[in-house]
Amino acid sequence: MIPFNQPALTGNEEAYLIQAIRNRKISGDGHFTQLCHQWIEKTFRCPKALLTPSCTHALEMAAVLMEIGHGDEVIMPSYTFSSTANAFALHGANIVFVDIRPDTMNIDERLIEQAINHRTKAIVVVHYAGVACEMDAIMKLADKYGLFVVEDAAQGVMSMYKGRPLGTIGHFGCYSFHETKNFTSGEGGALLINDQRYVDRAEVIREKGTNRKQFLQGQVDKYSWVDIGSSFLPSELNAAYLYAQFEKAEEINTDRLSSWHTYYNELADLERAEKIKCPHIPENCQHNAHMFYIKVRDIEERSKFISYLKSKGIMAVFHYVPLHSSKAGQRVGTFHGNDQFTTNESERLVRLPMYYGLTNDSINYITDCIRGFYETRT
Ligand SMILES: *Cc1c(COP(=O)(O)O)cnc(C)c1O
Repeated sequence: MIPFNQPALTGNEEAYLIQAIRNRKISGDGHFTQLCHQWIEKTFRCPKALLTPSCTHALEMAAVLMEIGHGDEVIMPSYTFSSTANAFALHGANIVFVDIRPDTMNIDERLIEQAINHRTKAIVVVHYAGVACEMDAIMKLADKYGLFVVEDAAQGVMSMYKGRPLGTIGHFGCYSFHETKNFTSGEGGALLINDQRYVDRAEVIREKGTNRKQFLQGQVDKYSWVDIGSSFLPSELNAAYLYAQFEKAEEINTDRLSSWHTYYNELADLERAEKIKCPHIPENCQHNAHMFYIKVRDIEERSKFISYLKSKGIMAVFHYVPLHSSKAGQRVGTFHGNDQFTTNESERLVRLPMYYGLTNDSINYITDCIRGFYETRT
């Protein structure tokens, strides 16, 4: 059986976990958490990075920092994970969904302006499959209307847009280190704060609304409740595991990209024959091979395709059911404009196995099976 995903394991995870245990400091913000913060800040040239228990929590922190409240509107694609919308809906925002571009499955930057009104507070972009949204156009719009931009870069760690790391372009960037992502701590995430003005408040919000951080640094003589907040910091055990992966980030990235290109080359003939569609990477984007997906004809063909591969021992999976057609999405959101591509394109998409250590033999077997599937259908 070829699984769809396998969490990366690069060698030092066990040793660092043992070290964290022996340090007798396993709550948040210890040695390994600091190492992870420094690594993110240095590698991606970001003013401030804070580990969180998940990307979901990083998005929620961004919502608190932006003071999202009742009646505010937040623009985002409908083709995303529930967390992207939940973080803002939790604070009473109305979610305004905008159609995606069929080539990247990212929000169509040309449709955002017509969804903006006086209640709009933020644009939340999702870099699907680690391929960047058109950030120049989006940042320009945000400037013009005084809006925040949050990057849901859950899938985009190590990806770039015009040479700039994803997560560092908007006001806030949110990473995921869930086990299905490129770098993992089981469950985990990070908030990247790209605007210095929000750093101090972010540290307080993350520490249950207290000034514990300033107290520990001797900047204040009392430790007390100074703002709203929550517990947004992960345990040192998670950070220890994650740091081992950061040290091997280039190796993980190179390995995944190599698998991605093997898929792409092996499936080129089926794409030329117009049986399937392979992903499109715009020229400005350097991606991280988070995902290799293809698009088949329609949802019916996709069901047969997934069953066929399963019968050959291969786990291929579909992805998001658009949020605007979900029960909660209908309650807290509305789709602005026409759903020209969101539903149709999402129904065609299927993700193939992709993980650190996936062998070329496995990829060749998978692509042979895909060819086999199309031979049975002609
Ligand atoms: C995985 C993912 C999330 C959620 O990440 P968690 O770390 O599990 O909270 C949010 N948004 C997108 C686009 C994701 O892919």
